[in-house]
Amino acid sequence: RDADNVLVRVENVSKYFGSFQALDDVSLDVNRGEVVVIIGPSGSGKSTLCRAINRLETIDSGVISIDGEPLPAEGKALADLRAEVGMVFQSFNLFSHKTILDNVTLGPIKVKKMKPAEAQELARGLLARVGLADQAEKFPAQLSGGQQQRAAIARALAMEPKVMLFDEPTSALDPEMITEVLDVMESLARGGMTMIVVTHEMGFAKKAADSVAFMADGKILERQSPEDFFAHPHTERARDFLNKIL
Ligand code: ADP
Ligand code: MG
Repeated sequence: RDADNVLVRVENVSKYFGSFQALDDVSLDVNRGEVVVIIGPSGSGKSTLCRAINRLETIDSGVISIDGEPLPAEGKALADLRAEVGMVFQSFNLFSHKTILDNVTLGPIKVKKMKPAEAQELARGLLARVGLADQAEKFPAQLSGGQQQRAAIARALAMEPKVMLFDEPTSALDPEMITEVLDVMESLARGGMTMIVVTHEMGFAKKAADSVAFMADGKILERQSPEDFFAHPHTERARDFLNKIL
């Protein structure tokens, strides 16, 4: 990875919950336009890493920077950062009392001080992009899980993030809805979005990832191209994991 091209840099990051070490000296560089899929067993620290990159979680040591800027611990710069990092979680985190359109326009209006009309135009464009042009006036509960997750992607994109983080975005979905969400993610990837994706969908990793990072026990044990990773995982832990899930 070429230093000028690094957008997200995670350097020697450790994180403890009490005496339990959830992240153990994790380093991960992600280039502009790169798609990194993070896989690994439950409890290995994948969500904690995503949350640390988005500063939803503090870290105990190390540095995380976006575009060369170390993440601040707090303050206004933190709000700016949140705008730079889009996040889509496993369970739908739309505001239930707001329409889909309002969910998407909220960030641009509140955080980016965009005029409502302009935000609505942006939102309608994004909703069209995720296949929800005709659902804008509905409330989240009126949509399927797959549609809600696509709306969550549109909402994150509305902030024009530099990088998108996905933490098991399809794990809570019925099987028939998984593809529609992965298709949207794949099209984002092809469009050049920098993405960090925690997923168990190996088909997505094979099709869309530039590299796969394998995590276990709070460490990234290996990182390589999906072709190489699935054919020849370097570590015993990764081999065991793949044998279990494939
Ligand atoms: P993954 O996403 O890979 O399943 P997590 O990052 O969610 O793993 O969790 C890693 C470990 O850290 C787990 O053992 C989990 O129980 C622990 N952990 C995560 N969040 C907290 C928390 N807020 N307090 C205490 N322990 C936590
Ligand atoms: Mg998790």
